[in-house]
Amino acid sequence: MFALDRELLQWEAELPSVRGAARVQLAIRLAWHQRQRDPQRAAALASEVSPLLDMLPDAARRGARARFMLVEGESRWLTGDLDGARVLADQAFALFDGLGDAAGRADARWLSAWIESDRGDSEACDVALAAGALDAADAGDALRADVFHAAAALFAVFCDLHQAMARWGKRFDPDADGLHPAASGWINDFRGIAAFHASDYGRAVSLLTRSYQAAMETGQLRRATSIATNIGNAFTGLNAHHAALEWMQRGLDLARPTGWPMCIGLGLMQSAETLRQLGQRDAARELLAEALATLAPLPHSRAYAITLEYQGDLALDVGDYEAALASFRQLEARGDALRQADFRSGARRGQAHALSHLNRPQEALAVAQAALALAREYGDASNQISALRVLAAIHTRHAVPAPASATSPSCALHYLQQALDVASSIEGYAVPGELLDAVAREYAGIGDYSQAYAVALQASAARDQTHSQEATNRAIAMQVQYQTERAETEGEHHRELAAAEAQRAEVLLQTSATLEHLSAIGQEITTHLDAAAVFRALDRHVHGLLDATHFSIFMIEPDGRSLRCAFGIEAGRTLPSTHLALSDTHANSVRCVRERREILVEIDATDSTPNLIPGTLQTLSLLFAPLLIGERVLGVMTVQSLAPRAYGERERLIFRTLCAYGAIALDNADAYRQVAATLKALRTTQAQLVEKNLELEEAYKALEDVSLTDQLTGLRNRRFFLQHVDADVGLSMRSYDETKRPNTADRDTPPRDLVFFMVDIDHFKEVNDQHGHASGDAVLVQMQERLREVFRESDYVIRWGGEEFLVLARATYRDDAHLVAERVRSAVANRDFELPDGSRLKKTCSIGFACFPFVQAQPGLLSWSEVVELADQGLYLAKRSGRNAWAAIYSTPETHPDGLFQRLIHHFDDVLADGEVKLVTNLESPLVSAGPKKRRLVMPSELKP
Ligand code: GH3
Ligand code: MG
Ligand code: MG
Repeated sequence: MFALDRELLQWEAELPSVRGAARVQLAIRLAWHQRQRDPQRAAALASEVSPLLDMLPDAARRGARARFMLVEGESRWLTGDLDGARVLADQAFALFDGLGDAAGRADARWLSAWIESDRGDSEACDVALAAGALDAADAGDALRADVFHAAAALFAVFCDLHQAMARWGKRFDPDADGLHPAASGWINDFRGIAAFHASDYGRAVSLLTRSYQAAMETGQLRRATSIATNIGNAFTGLNAHHAALEWMQRGLDLARPTGWPMCIGLGLMQSAETLRQLGQRDAARELLAEALATLAPLPHSRAYAITLEYQGDLALDVGDYEAALASFRQLEARGDALRQADFRSGARRGQAHALSHLNRPQEALAVAQAALALAREYGDASNQISALRVLAAIHTRHAVPAPASATSPSCALHYLQQALDVASSIEGYAVPGELLDAVAREYAGIGDYSQAYAVALQASAARDQTHSQEATNRAIAMQVQYQTERAETEGEHHRELAAAEAQRAEVLLQTSATLEHLSAIGQEITTHLDAAAVFRALDRHVHGLLDATHFSIFMIEPDGRSLRCAFGIEAGRTLPSTHLALSDTHANSVRCVRERREILVEIDATDSTPNLIPGTLQTLSLLFAPLLIGERVLGVMTVQSLAPRAYGERERLIFRTLCAYGAIALDNADAYRQVAATLKALRTTQAQLVEKNLELEEAYKALEDVSLTDQLTGLRNRRFFLQHVDADVGLSMRSYDETKRPNTADRDTPPRDLVFFMVDIDHFKEVNDQHGHASGDAVLVQMQERLREVFRESDYVIRWGGEEFLVLARATYRDDAHLVAERVRSAVANRDFELPDGSRLKKTCSIGFACFPFVQAQPGLLSWSEVVELADQGLYLAKRSGRNAWAAIYSTPETHPDGLFQRLIHHFDDVLADGEVKLVTNLESPLVSAGPKKRRLVMPSELKP
């Protein structure tokens, strides 16, 4: 709950060297205990580790979240954001409760209690403290339970001292100082405040001073400022105003840097009251105004109420009764709400005083009597006396009816007498001379001079006694002051001890900072996979950490016989790459490698460096260390300085560490270099393979191309056609399916008909026979050119075989197909062919064609090969009917699907006569009847290589 300063110091020192989950845990603990000592540091720690909480197990993570809520909640409470603090305290409580963490629950209750206290809800504060004490007991934490009970006892004192003592007086260890400072601090606080309320100011100062030290030592800054002002207040009770002001100042000095309204307000307001009692009314007024402004966010707190009371008393002092009345009325409301006895009675006493001076005797009388009744109810002697004296003053100033119980000759005397009675009931209470003076004046007023004289004598004696009492108080004050100073001297001693401790921690911190720095360097150096980069990184860091005029690295050559200076810089100048034989008996670097140990050479300024490498400086401190990987030596690294004895233990440690990192990095670099070389060889082979592969692929492609192309004409062949026809047929079929669908966007788009043209040169055999085979070839090549002229680039023109061509025309209107056929026919017939001997030859061709789908309403009815056969049938018909012509078979609306293809092949005449198909041709008298066609299409399966 409250760690000691020295514990904090230790944790802070440990933090930089702790890693992982342990660091997160340590940071959580630190944040928690810094919550009042240094809220910014606490918040920074919390935000630093919050993203790392996932490292912790589930319960620990949730516990940490709750802790951070309390840290943040406490910060809000201190700055006066009570609502924000409340929310966080409740959330933290719920989390701790869910985890069954009783100590955490208690801590959340502790914060809640203080929020309620500042809110002015005494009852809720008490409830939270009582519940927290139970949680502490649940956690088996006697220390926490002591703290909660002592705080509860402290609040009880404000409400009713006697009840508080009856309830709590025997609860705590009589020797509280033997307990942990957190517990002893709160117990002494309770006892000190109780002593204060019993007007035992000397004891109050003594107890509160110890409490103050404990609060400081345990990081309870806000409580420490409150206690400082209470100590000041107690000194005021002893009329030791100088000491009082000193403590008030101390409290303020402590409070100001925090910016916490409660602390600053308390300090200001108590200082103001002390100044008032010293007659410094203007200064008091200013401080009170500042106090009220500071406490504005906490209008329901006890501190705010006290300020109102002080403001009222100051107004009475200066005779501003209206202002006094206003202040005491506000105080009355606050006292009733807080249910704190001292305010309730004091507020009425002050109002009565003001009302009397405002000539409102009836009201004055009523509230004075109420003040008296309340003070009696709570057994508050001091306020009873005050109320009785105000009643007496009212009766002296105004003609008001006497109380029924009055037996004295004067009402004023009646009340003063009662005041004397109460005073005598207080043990050790010195009746003030002024009170006796007032009594004497009353006797004189009613003409009882002998009584007046007797009381005047008592007053005189009382004054003497009061004077000596004041003297005693001063003495007590001095004594307490002395004790305080002594305690502070002891405190100083402790502080010195703490400072020494802190220094040790600092050294530790520095060492660990160096280690941290080195580990960062190590990480950097070892990331390089190239020896030159490693050298440069080492060079940079060597100069950052050591005095090194000369820095060089020697590596063992692959043959293992010599050292080569791989990197060397001296006074900013690059050293030449030298070689040293490993058999060299003088060179320090060679010795270092051979003996595998660090060598430090220290030379007096007067001597000369032995074995100086020519061209290098005369250095006085030379440090050599081997670059070792396990048993393997890679080389040696050296730093050298012009200064004598430049390398102490710390420097050697650093250099050794750098050598270790360097060795790892250089070994890695070497391994990487080897791997890289292997990889390079591999890549070359791979690249060659890839190249071979490409060549192969190209050859294969060329081969394939050849296999798909007719060598004579350059046209695609049957093989090519068979590879592609299915895709086109599929496309056409799909487009028919789509157009059949309703709501298709463009139903006007022509269907993607395929038209198969079969073209055959007429009497081609004669060309061969009459002009030779070469002429036949020439005609075939020219035939190819003419077909390409007629058809589009996207149509397939195939050399189907011999002097026979198949053309697949795509996306063609079936009704326009005859125009294409006619273009082919005329392209052949209207132009002569050129033969190799230059002669010209007339040739014709015949064309048959058919459309796919054959029946548009049923695209799948005939296959493409059946359609090609129908085209072939058209060609046959054209030949038979005289050649140089074209003919096509088309479906009609009468076409019956049943056995259609078979019927077309075997009974074409009947099908045509029935109107199931129509003939589209340029023949005037086509010879239809010819019996079943003999030719048959070669099927794809027979073509596959
Ligand atoms: P039809 O009008 O009935 O088609 O008579 P045709 O002479 O054109 O038909 P036929 O099938 O009787 O003769 C075709 C000839 O084409 C047979 C063959 O020698 C010849 N031929 C086939 N391929 C080639 C070739 O690549 N070059 C040459 N020069 N002649 C070829
Ligand atoms: Mg022919
Ligand atoms: Mg032929």
